[in-house]
Amino acid sequence: MKPHVLVCGGAGYIGAHMCKRLARAGVVPVTFDSLVTGHRNAVQWGPLEIGDLLHPGDLSAVFARYPIQSVLHFAARSLVGESVREPALYLRNNVTGTLNLLDAMRSAGVGKLVFSSTAAVYGNPLYTPIDEAHPAQPINPYGLSKWLAEQQIRAYCEAYGLRAVCLRYFNAAGADADGETGEAHEPETHLIPNIIRAALTPSLGPVKLFGNDYPTPDGTCVRDYIHVEDLAEAHLLALDYMAGQPGFHVFNLGTGQGNSVAEVLAQCQALCAGAPASEVQPRRPGDPATLVASAALAQAALGWTPRHGLDGILRSALRWHQGSGATAATARSTADR
Ligand code: UDP
Repeated sequence: MKPHVLVCGGAGYIGAHMCKRLARAGVVPVTFDSLVTGHRNAVQWGPLEIGDLLHPGDLSAVFARYPIQSVLHFAARSLVGESVREPALYLRNNVTGTLNLLDAMRSAGVGKLVFSSTAAVYGNPLYTPIDEAHPAQPINPYGLSKWLAEQQIRAYCEAYGLRAVCLRYFNAAGADADGETGEAHEPETHLIPNIIRAALTPSLGPVKLFGNDYPTPDGTCVRDYIHVEDLAEAHLLALDYMAGQPGFHVFNLGTGQGNSVAEVLAQCQALCAGAPASEVQPRRPGDPATLVASAALAQAALGWTPRHGLDGILRSALRWHQGSGATAATARSTADR
């Protein structure tokens, strides 16, 4: 029988890429997703179980139904701005939801977990590039929720022998090389899809640049954009890593290369005949000025090296948005809920 991995949030942006990669590696990805933010049609590489992390019975049913060997946990609320407005939503989904998953894994005797964490746990960096030894001082409820979830996982590793890898993503972006899956949030808040949508659909108006008075070289925020396919690869390596390494581990996933909002816009304009236009808006609450990773630890421990840079990210995202994928996924998402 093929190995089975539970992918919580497998109908979401990063989870769907992961499922495709797992299937290619001969693993059955069992998606557990509420479809609140995920898309039914993104689940193409294994079974879909619709359920909610806040309903423990939904989780125990999935563990009873499939011979799950390990878990990849992507299911979370993930918008910084929304988290500032609705912290309760974030703490309940991301912290309590993770606790319920840990309990269900424990009851089912499943002992390996890869957790989607985030650079937002670091808050405003005290130095860059940020390594894993940097203090965790989240400045928004999203980052706080992921930090608290990590600490729960750590406690379960120490007390119950769970093996876990927390992967702190910097800015996930890009789309599948075959155009089968990509980023389709509604409403969309992320920079790269917003720039591409505005470039392809001028009636949407100019893209908004949130703040040009940050302490960065051009005044706009600097981020480390990492291709979603590189993230999926790191998760596969993390699964292998846990076979030989007990305990709790944390790795940053980024390229080590920072790009400002203005640079991303300019690079996209170069690909899109000068479009889109832009307009400067006030800062968005909760945004640190600069987030750039040191991913040296992931490279040394996991043997992980990102293959894509910003150009590959933008080209793949543009292809996805130009094809039917993004439009169809967005259109269907409302019907799925
Ligand atoms: N941003 C922007 N316009 C947008 C969306 C985002 O200027 O339409 C900025 C945002 O303020 C941040 C950077 O782009 O400085 C990356 O934001 P995104 O939401 O893509 O990712 P985050 O860093 O919040 O995870």
